[in-house]
Amino acid sequence: MHELSIAQSMLEIIDLHVSKSGCTRCTAVTVRAGLLSAVDEEALSFAFETLCEQTAHSGAVLSVEKTYPTARCGCGCTFKVTDLIYACPECGAVTAALSGGDELDVIKLEVE
Ligand SMILES: [Zn+2]
Repeated sequence: MHELSIAQSMLEIIDLHVSKSGCTRCTAVTVRAGLLSAVDEEALSFAFETLCEQTAHSGAVLSVEKTYPTARCGCGCTFKVTDLIYACPECGAVTAALSGGDELDVIKLEVE
């Protein structure tokens, strides 16, 4: 359960920000998850909701913003990768070098 440990670290980040800002709870959180971080959005929502239930942040809304890596193929073509199985649209090679798309960050928190 990769998503459970992600949800746990999200809660740690939330707790830290909430206490720093002098607020009591988090109402919404936005996470940026790259395709390569292989996060299952549903599993993450479920893990996050379950963990939040036992805290002051119960009911906080989770949004996941997906990002995709850019592939640069040996043939000179650059394309966006939207699936873990990918091939160059120009030459069909599957050896393109990827950049980005592996981020997993909390990018926005709403607290009250
Ligand atoms: Zn190519």
